[in-house]
Amino acid sequence: ARHEGPAHLCFYTARMGGAMRERIGLETMLCQAIARREFVLQYQPRIGMTDGRMVGVEALVRWRHPQLGLLAPGRFIPLAEESGLINELDMWVLREACVRAAAWCAQGLFSGRMSVNLSARQFQQPGLAQRVRAVLADSGLAPAALELEITESTVMHDTEDAADVLRSLRALGVTVSIDDFGTGYSSLSYLKRFPLDVLKIDRAFVRDLDGDATGAAIVRAIITLAHSLGLSAVAEGVETAEQVAFLKENGCDEIQGYYFSRPVWPDEIARLLAEAAGA
Ligand code: C2E
Ligand code: CA
Ligand code: CA
Ligand code: CA
Repeated sequence: ARHEGPAHLCFYTARMGGAMRERIGLETMLCQAIARREFVLQYQPRIGMTDGRMVGVEALVRWRHPQLGLLAPGRFIPLAEESGLINELDMWVLREACVRAAAWCAQGLFSGRMSVNLSARQFQQPGLAQRVRAVLADSGLAPAALELEITESTVMHDTEDAADVLRSLRALGVTVSIDDFGTGYSSLSYLKRFPLDVLKIDRAFVRDLDGDATGAAIVRAIITLAHSLGLSAVAEGVETAEQVAFLKENGCDEIQGYYFSRPVWPDEIARLLAEAAGA
């Protein structure tokens, strides 16, 4: 049609905000980013509350964009989800993280868990357990050393199917945690029907610990809930000594956050692990 000619395009281009132009540029480049090996992983330590040791790490993806530099997932995960590319990206992350963890295990550095985030789309994609099993077999990582993080809203999406998927993952021997717990749905009844291992308390609640007594009451309630269901409680976004003290006093099992370490490059994790092993 005539109104779709170049003049029309220019009209919009001139009026497009910087954000819109960035978005279109990113989308195009995202498709090639895996092949170009532009994705990289940082790892954030997870600390056991009783002994202060590193009990695991969470793999967090970044995009080394040729022009824009290192991009945080918030800049491109939503785009990857919309375009469907997230399935490929999540599988790349899973493979990369498992290979890395297997190498640390082989060096005698690592006996903890490698935690990997799964998007809703990946979780809902048929054959997930088979794909995870194949990655474990290829990398040589023991299933017990892998933890999959799934958000609360993902499992709530289709609870019947979700329960089946969770069972098939658990049958492999991997650990399953509910990420961003408390931010999704208010119904808690699903918890007792789902085979789970860990509740990760969203960092919004941890941050609220600094506010009034309500923040403390909520975090305490989540820890109690986790334990009464036989799950462990992990707090994320822990930034201060006060938060650590509160979480310890209230029986939180593991913590993760800037207080201990930001997400770091694999070399730094290997160094920390070697240091801990030598100590
Ligand atoms: P998440 O799974 O809740 O990951 C925790 C986020 O909190 C990370 O942000 C981490 O850097 C940040 N964080 C950790 N400790 C602290 C702290 O003490 N204070 C504050 N303010 N923040 C802290 P990041 O790396 O930007 O990742 C954001 C989100 O992107 C993740 O949230 C996760 O939902 C998603 N994501 C990251 N990697 C992947 C991936 O490989 N696949 C998928 N599907 N999603 C991913
Ligand atoms: Ca996570
Ligand atoms: Ca989280
Ligand atoms: Ca989050």
